[in-house]
Amino acid sequence: MTALPPQTGKTLGLVIDLDTCVGCHACVVACKGWNDQAYGAPLSDSDAYGADPSGTFLNRVHSYEVVPENGPAQHVHFPKSCLHCEDPPCVPVCPTGASYKRAEDGIVLVNEDACIGCGLCAWACPYGAREMDPSAGVMKKCTLCVDRIYNETLPEEDREPACVRTCPASARHFGDLGDPESAVSQLVAARGGIDLMPEQGTRPVNKYLPPRPRDSWSGETDVLAPFLDPVAEDPSGFLGWLDRTLGKL
Ligand code: SF4
Ligand code: SF4
Ligand code: SF4
Repeated sequence: MTALPPQTGKTLGLVIDLDTCVGCHACVVACKGWNDQAYGAPLSDSDAYGADPSGTFLNRVHSYEVVPENGPAQHVHFPKSCLHCEDPPCVPVCPTGASYKRAEDGIVLVNEDACIGCGLCAWACPYGAREMDPSAGVMKKCTLCVDRIYNETLPEEDREPACVRTCPASARHFGDLGDPESAVSQLVAARGGIDLMPEQGTRPVNKYLPPRPRDSWSGETDVLAPFLDPVAEDPSGFLGWLDRTLGKL
């Protein structure tokens, strides 16, 4: 039995560390495994082991090899799921009211009983974070594991999203980003966490932590710095690369 969420006015979301993510896809598998149960029917899969596989995934990881002009290739693994935006364009476009954002904790959800599968919300989302389930004929998306985080039948340590619970690199963090004192807010402040595509005006709750200079790990100054400058917005820097890459997702 899942308890009703407390009326706390939280702003729940994820913080994803692009510095420590190793692209293992454990979060993808854990997400699919948990939400296969949560939706009452498996998330769709077709031709899973064939030449043209497709399926519904609420969390995906895109991996890139970046080759800067001045150095060897660098890998960037980029997990992507719904960012639970403060101004979510996927909500007002929905003709039935099926797509909504909860006042009590900021989670953006779909009421499947009211969804007619028109796809307008997926068209409106600039991040490609919604997934039409062709078997069910309804839109699905990350729920922040709303059926785990308030679930009093689970051990305390399991009351967090399945992706966060399973990440072997501790690259995923969950918490209240509306509280400046929370661990996730302090992590964002300490590491210069960024919004994806801020120019879209969606005010995403989820934040991404950019790669750190390698010498900040060891304190040594002669260790190689990253080939992508983590804070540069020009084409040679991480933010410049991210800006170009997001346009292709
Ligand atoms: S489980 Fe963690 S390390 Fe693995 S792909 Fe997901 S975020 Fe990255
Ligand atoms: S990431 Fe996309 S689906 Fe999620 S709240 Fe923002 S606009 Fe809506
Ligand atoms: S697919 Fe469903 S949730 Fe999305 S806009 Fe259409 S009715 Fe609303």
